[in-house]
Amino acid sequence: MSETTPEVRADRAREVSEALGGVRERIEAACGAAGRDPGGVTLVVVTKTRPVTDVVLVHRLGVRDLAENRDQEASRKAAVCADLALRWHFVGRLQTNKARSVASYATMVHSLDRQALVRPLGAGARAAGRVVDCLLQVSLDGDISRGGAREADLAELADAVAGESGLRLRGIMAVAPRLVDPWRAFGVLPGILERLRGNHPGMDVVSAGMSNDLEAAVGNGATHLRVGSAVLGARHVLG
Ligand SMILES: *Cc1c(COP(=O)(O)O)cnc(C)c1O
Repeated sequence: MSETTPEVRADRAREVSEALGGVRERIEAACGAAGRDPGGVTLVVVTKTRPVTDVVLVHRLGVRDLAENRDQEASRKAAVCADLALRWHFVGRLQTNKARSVASYATMVHSLDRQALVRPLGAGARAAGRVVDCLLQVSLDGDISRGGAREADLAELADAVAGESGLRLRGIMAVAPRLVDPWRAFGVLPGILERLRGNHPGMDVVSAGMSNDLEAAVGNGATHLRVGSAVLGARHVLG
């Protein structure tokens, strides 16, 4: 941050520090239960709708991976916090006309769910001289109106991403459908990844798990957890 570094209030710092500690403990416990090394799980803190002071605060608490779901808010925060060497993850519904912009600052795009995004993302990455890690978002209930590709469309999408320079195909992402046991929902992810790895052995990322279901995600091989409210409190704005 530059001379404009916003002030972080002490009470907010204490609150977030405690909440973050709690989430880190949950992740360790879930790894213990699953017989996994916590070093293989990256906590991505979702800062959508939160002020820049929260970004500064979680950075101070050791977090380097942050996520946003809207290009306008993400690009603004990435620019304001450029000095902090953060890795920005894009996790929201992605419009084709925003793909170029997202590729200019995102380290990893979790929500690549259709062919139409591949070329603009690749063009944006190349224009910025960057390589952007991409995850294929899979719809676990087949209702693609809520984002995600049908499982049957993943292989073709994987080939398209792998063939686009500027993009690196890294893995898959999923959101548990509402009202479904997340253990059951995430249970299909290891098999989906394994099948895609047949043609794309470099795929090694599974982004799954949010505040309420991170244990089920860790138990099913998640390497990246996207956690917002359990760290930063309930959102007062829809995001
Ligand atoms: C907001 C959001 C999250 C974080 O959700 P919480 O329940 O606040 O942890 C994770 N993934 C995506 C795609 C989101 O939009």
